[in-house]
Amino acid sequence: MKNTAQQFWELLYLFEDYLTGGYEQQREVPLLSLPGDACCDEKKACFSEAADEMKILEKEILTCRKCGLCGTRHLAVPGEGVLCPSVVVIGEGPGAEEDRTGRPFVGAAGKYLDKWLSAIDGDRNTNCYICNLVKCRPPGNRDPEEDEIEACLTYLVRQLDLLKPKVILAAGRIASQRLTGLDSGIGILRGKVYDFKGIPVVPTYHPSAVLRNQDLRRPVWEDLKQLQILLSGR
Ligand code: SF4
Repeated sequence: MKNTAQQFWELLYLFEDYLTGGYEQQREVPLLSLPGDACCDEKKACFSEAADEMKILEKEILTCRKCGLCGTRHLAVPGEGVLCPSVVVIGEGPGAEEDRTGRPFVGAAGKYLDKWLSAIDGDRNTNCYICNLVKCRPPGNRDPEEDEIEACLTYLVRQLDLLKPKVILAAGRIASQRLTGLDSGIGILRGKVYDFKGIPVVPTYHPSAVLRNQDLRRPVWEDLKQLQILLSGR
């Protein structure tokens, strides 16, 4: 049952859709104008081509109708950050605030994630890229369905191909299971390094889970230290 506040915001978004042309509206794509700090001379040579391809890919995502989530989203959320990042963070899907703004990991969980990254000298404006397995919000924040993940996966694979990160941080159970190919719980999956298409994957808890349960801060810190070890090549 929706409460009055939810009904109010939904009405407001519907009115905004009416004014702006609905969910297919073009939002300003976050700039990818700077090479991240993992951008070597060889990668710099192809930087502008990759930046152009990324903009085309983001526009495809913004108007995508490949799965049923296109019917309930407000804005698709391609991702944001730099090309050639040290770290790509992959969550499961946009929440309400992300759906409203078109930006990944905003709100309390996003600010908390920014703190984690900052602890390892990471930042979405200089050396990280942040996105999700599915680019449109599953209604009511339910888990994305298998067919939705499969439909959206080609976008993630193309993003990783263009981004060429050193390491992936998988945030939460759903992203960790899909990227490792295993269906264990996140408490079992974390603590080891996996491989997704040649990129090392470090699974950890989702920031919103850690905000709800402070006991998870220690394992997350251990996972971030593991990430740092991979980045330093030790
Ligand atoms: S979730 Fe992915 S596949 Fe589904 S409509 Fe959105 S962008 Fe397209």
